[in-house]
Amino acid sequence: MHDVVIVGSGPAGLMLAGELRLAGVDAVVLERRETQDLAGSRGGGIHARSIELLDQRGIADRFLAEGKLLHAATFGGTMLDLSGLPTRHPYTLALFQNHIERLLLRWVEELGVSIRRGVEVTRIAPDDEGVDVHLASGGSLRARYVVGADGGRSVVRREAGIPFVGPDATRSTLIAEVQVAGELSPTGKVDERGVHGLHPMGDGTVRVVVTEAELGPPTEPTLEELRRGLIEVFGTDFGVHSPTWLSRFTDATRQAASYREGRVLLAGDAAHVHSPTGGLGIGLGLQDAVNLGWKLGQVVRGISGDALLDSYHAERHPAGARALKYTMAQSLFQRADPRQEALRDLIDEVLGRDGAGTVVAALITGLDVAYDLGAGHPLLGRRMPDLDISTPDGPVRVFDLLHRARPLVLQFGGPTLDVGAWTDRVQHVVATYDGAWELPVVGDVGAPTAVLVRPDGHVAWVSEGSAAGLPEALATWCGAARS
Ligand SMILES: Cc1cc2nc3c(=O)[nH]c(=O)nc-3n(C[C@H](O)[C@H](O)[C@H](O)COP(=O)(O)OP(=O)(O)OC[C@H]3O[C@@H](n4cnc5c(N)ncnc54)[C@H](O)[C@@H]3O)c2cc1C
Repeated sequence: MHDVVIVGSGPAGLMLAGELRLAGVDAVVLERRETQDLAGSRGGGIHARSIELLDQRGIADRFLAEGKLLHAATFGGTMLDLSGLPTRHPYTLALFQNHIERLLLRWVEELGVSIRRGVEVTRIAPDDEGVDVHLASGGSLRARYVVGADGGRSVVRREAGIPFVGPDATRSTLIAEVQVAGELSPTGKVDERGVHGLHPMGDGTVRVVVTEAELGPPTEPTLEELRRGLIEVFGTDFGVHSPTWLSRFTDATRQAASYREGRVLLAGDAAHVHSPTGGLGIGLGLQDAVNLGWKLGQVVRGISGDALLDSYHAERHPAGARALKYTMAQSLFQRADPRQEALRDLIDEVLGRDGAGTVVAALITGLDVAYDLGAGHPLLGRRMPDLDISTPDGPVRVFDLLHRARPLVLQFGGPTLDVGAWTDRVQHVVATYDGAWELPVVGDVGAPTAVLVRPDGHVAWVSEGSAAGLPEALATWCGAARS
């Protein structure tokens, strides 16, 4: 019996596989694709919090070295300056999904993750002790837990009977990578249908996006349909030919009613789908995976009880719902319509006011995610900033201390903290830091004397001069004390 079977090696599945490996769990990834090569480039990049997650594992530089940094994001018609956000990465990284997957794959391979390719899951059957995973080949595997990271049409979600709820599509868009006859300069247009464009990708391939006149069927389109769409919008089909990828996406927005059903969990697009507008898809999956990985690892290794897994839904479902709201609002502006343009212009006026745009910028980048861990210091439930601190071993960045995904008690002052009963699992680092504590949107917050940082980088306990509550927080997030 496997501890964990992950279905799908997209960004969410790969990230989760790496996180489980760091947690000391032997997970197997089942992937129906024979190679990691994607049909089409799909997602176009990741935002600041996702870059931070990679930084927490010491691999952000690999991604930054290959992509392009964009210091602004848009909402409606407003350009939002990201450069003032209090993060080491105040930008979006433009890097196509095939490269993101390649770099994630390299990381998980270095960690020793095993991916079984050409394996399609057709059915799962959970019971009290485990889950049978049935394959198209006729064989089956058994695992204690199964994670569906198998995309928007998730078989795992369907088999677990988890409802996928939200507004239906109002429009569909053809997307393709093709060759065009002759020269082509970037061409874009927004009309009452939606957004259309042809963008050279630098290697002779052109990425084409054409919104359809009517909602198309949930099947892959043909080159003929793409040509027709282009002629309707631009009056020419630009001589498109030799497609390497032809697909159709919609603005349907759906979220799994539950991210967990017993021994079955969902991550990434399997848990939420939305319009690609705004480019949140890949990052949401990475954030799900980093939230789930250490929890599932601790449960599988018997460090924590099964109830810890409920916090995955409790934290990630609201965070996903908020992101989905943003994509729905953003997609509203993706067509020419005088009423929507009036709303867009009004919003532009408001967001132009001092600091107002920061709220939306923090949402888009994922830097504002705050898990509800109760009342207290503003840091509680939020991401730990990547401070430059001094320790007895020398200067270090906080994120450096998270590379191995171990919980961290970071002590800046106050009474000496006793983490002795957790030292097998928890790092205790005494440090000094004299700079500001600035959180996105919240602003400057009072310096704590100590914090408990979970492996996902979120703060689970804050001290302002007392050790009260630390044993309880350690027991909640790091398992029972060693006797
Ligand atoms: C046409 C299109 C355009 C997009 N454009 C953008 C964009 O511009 N920006 C952006 O951020 N996002 C975009 N996205 C969304 C982005 O691609 C997804 O959010 C992201 O890929 C989700 O990652 P994931 O790992 O959750 O799922 P996926 O990437 O879908 O990975 C799921 C994996 O599971 C495998 N799998 C599925 N079923 C099974 C099975 N039964 N057995 C075994 N393996 C299985 C699949 O082969 C795949 O490898 C786009 C998506 C589409 C479809």
